Amino acid sequence: SKSRKYLIAGNWKMNKNASEGVELTEDIVSQLGNETSVGVVICPPFTALESVGKAINESNIQLGAQNMNPEASGAYTGEVSAEMLRSLFVTHVILGHSERRALFAEDDAFINKKVLAALANNLKPILCVGETLEEREAEKTIDIVSGQVRKGLEGVTADQAENLVIAYEPVWAIGTGKTATPEMAQEVHKAIRSVLAELVGEEKADKIRILYGGSMKPENADELLAQPDIDGGLIGGAALVARSFVGIVEAAA
Ligand code: PEP
Repeated sequence: SKSRKYLIAGNWKMNKNASEGVELTEDIVSQLGNETSVGVVICPPFTALESVGKAINESNIQLGAQNMNPEASGAYTGEVSAEMLRSLFVTHVILGHSERRALFAEDDAFINKKVLAALANNLKPILCVGETLEEREAEKTIDIVSGQVRKGLEGVTADQAENLVIAYEPVWAIGTGKTATPEMAQEVHKAIRSVLAELVGEEKADKIRILYGGSMKPENADELLAQPDIDGGLIGGAALVARSFVGIVEAAA
């Protein structure tokens, strides 16, 4: 077993209004019971954060957001700051998800600003990285992913490392039903950890959770989580079904 505590995070994407979110959360809470050996985070849309936050109140589940603007306040119509998230008891924030990179033109420099702002405001960033199918076929996976980690973490200090979470999400595996084999994922996770060791030192790098994401479900969670550098999962589709999400948490327990 690993020294790192597993973390299972649910990314609801643009699904569930506030009351639907509460319903799903209550289902998850009741099925999870008192599971404390695994860290669990759920990331609803901004509009459901407050009500979902109340619904997880007595449980061990933590609250995450799916995005954040790096600025503290000001004329940024439609955006949400770290402090606004903190005021709703949010502890984690997904940053640089591939959908934001691809559909909303977020680049590594902008994502890096968000990572620094999240850390400065005591939010734990879940920095997402991952290659496209084209990049994998061109055998550029390790280069691409290493570059995203380096650029995303520029300026992060070793002291802040314990609050970092990385999510490796091959773009071709997200929402497609295609999963990286455990060996394919492990190879990339190991490469990410060696980049982290360069950036913050080996001892700190050994404590950083590296999650796998991409069509993870109860049926494939066991063998992915058994890999030495896979420390949990970032779950999309399966996070919208209480039984599936809890099944993945149980696989990690
Ligand atoms: C995600 O978008 O973070 C994700 C992993 O999605 P899915 O599980 O649906 O592939």
